[in-house]
Amino acid sequence: MAQILVTVDLEDWFQVENLRSCFPIDTWQNCELRLEEPTHKLLEVFDAYNIKATFFVLGWIAKRLPNFVKKISSHGHEIASHGYGHKLCCDINQSSLREDVLKSKRILEDIMSRPVTGYRAPSFSTNKTLVSILKDTGFVYDSSYNDFSAHGRYGSLHGSWKEVRPGLLRNHEGFYEMPVSNLKFFGRTIPWGGGGYFRLIPLWLFNKGVKRILSKRGSYLFYCHPWEFDPGQPKVQGINWNHRFRHYTGIGRNLKRLENFLKNFKDNQFEFLTCSQFVALGKQAV
Ligand SMILES: [Zn+2]
Repeated sequence: MAQILVTVDLEDWFQVENLRSCFPIDTWQNCELRLEEPTHKLLEVFDAYNIKATFFVLGWIAKRLPNFVKKISSHGHEIASHGYGHKLCCDINQSSLREDVLKSKRILEDIMSRPVTGYRAPSFSTNKTLVSILKDTGFVYDSSYNDFSAHGRYGSLHGSWKEVRPGLLRNHEGFYEMPVSNLKFFGRTIPWGGGGYFRLIPLWLFNKGVKRILSKRGSYLFYCHPWEFDPGQPKVQGINWNHRFRHYTGIGRNLKRLENFLKNFKDNQFEFLTCSQFVALGKQAV
């Protein structure tokens, strides 16, 4: 049976890379925290279809909303890390990256009272240094590789990785990578993993693409963010049209769209797993 992994990067509207120029980290404390309401809506949808997701939680958010993180976990979802300050791996040096990764891990583990073993890099900006830091600091897997190379912020995967099952890579140190799913079409890579692409592509076509990925690859990894389900968020001025378009398009209808998307695949008897459950399957295969 093919598997679907639903993942949520838990960050708020002012922490996204497209708005970075307007909201450096020292301004975040003055911004309205809005993610609880759209996240509650996501939890309701996941509960309605009995889907357990993986939440990659930003440490900065977890520090301010520890009980909310516990609440997400109480619905049966996996809590993993999205770093602390949403810094791109390629923009900071090794010691700052290590500090950011460890800070988020400690905050989340203090809240959860159990090991946090998964990580997703901000804007999928993974690299070789990050993978060695993650392995070194007790993480088991990363889910940050996106092979849509036309996007300038996305990182790369170095070294030798073996596919232990469709959608799950393992390196020689026993560390795992779960890449974001993209569509391969006539030798081209088309972004099909979620986020803004999910909001932009007509749902019937998106579903068709996901079915193709599932039949060709055997698994599909989807990602979204709570701010993509928050139509009331402040409309930021002073950003370029491209970032504005990518950030705001389709937000008003996105919750219904997500519900229809999940219902369609749930009705078709696909298996929904958390990232850790998926890694556990991979370990059996090794
Ligand atoms: Zn993010």
